[in-house]
Amino acid sequence: MTLDELREKVKNCKNCPLCDTRINAVFGSGNEHAEIMFVGEAPGRNEDETGEPFVGAAGRMLNDFLTASGLSREEVFIGNIVKCRPPQNRDPLPAEEERCIGYLLEQIRIIDPKIIVCLGRIAAKQLIDRDFQVTKQHGEVFRRNGRLIMATFHPAALLRNPAYKPATMDDFCLLYDIAYNRHFEVDIP
Ligand code: SF4
Repeated sequence: MTLDELREKVKNCKNCPLCDTRINAVFGSGNEHAEIMFVGEAPGRNEDETGEPFVGAAGRMLNDFLTASGLSREEVFIGNIVKCRPPQNRDPLPAEEERCIGYLLEQIRIIDPKIIVCLGRIAAKQLIDRDFQVTKQHGEVFRRNGRLIMATFHPAALLRNPAYKPATMDDFCLLYDIAYNRHFEVDIP
């Protein structure tokens, strides 16, 4: 399946009740050959209205960190664990994640990034470890299914807790170092 075919499937998906309340399914966007893929948890109100990921205040925060670390939004791909907005921005339910995760796994297979960066707890729990704790384990690099993966704070968390910003900057600098110094083959279990 191509990314465009998958996008069309997501656009019309009715696999879980979130389809009843969404305005737009948010497939994700960015470089379709990206070496770096960011994964958040779910669309919020702005994303639901526009159909684009990370376009509100949290999106601007993400852009700022990308720019400050020498990366750009154009070179990465950004998606979410679930593609439709949970009402009132609540956390996605396990059953909703279960129904939707196949789309993300297919996106990862097609885009084939060299490193995945989980934005926040929900993505990290789904993709790295069910017991993942972002405050303790952000910036640690793991290998899952042969691919590097790490987590950092969700930009929305940084809006609520600016004290996490320096640690987040360190994570982005590490990401830049891995990507630009071609450390994708580092020996990580
Ligand atoms: S959240 Fe995912 S599984 Fe549920 S309707 Fe949207 S695209 Fe389909």
